[in-house]
Amino acid sequence: MTIHSSTRTRTRRAHKPSAKCPISGKYRYDERHDAQLALKSARNLRSSLAVLEMSSSWTVVRAYRCECFGWHLTSRAAQSTTTN
Ligand SMILES: [Zn+2]
Repeated sequence: MTIHSSTRTRTRRAHKPSAKCPISGKYRYDERHDAQLALKSARNLRSSLAVLEMSSSWTVVRAYRCECFGWHLTSRAAQSTTTN
């Protein structure tokens, strides 16, 4: 029995939820850890650009939980409420 597996096409219509949030339109991180890693690399990028006297538009400072059950990054400073 031969099954003709069609050539592997990388369709973006996978079962996985899209990486974009329907609420905020931002890129969605599934895990807080992922968001924090991205935050870290944004910080690293900024500090290395600062050495070159350049600035990055990637000004995210904080990760927050969204109603879409994912995590997003924001450039707004944290509010008075502490979420731990
Ligand atoms: Zn969201």
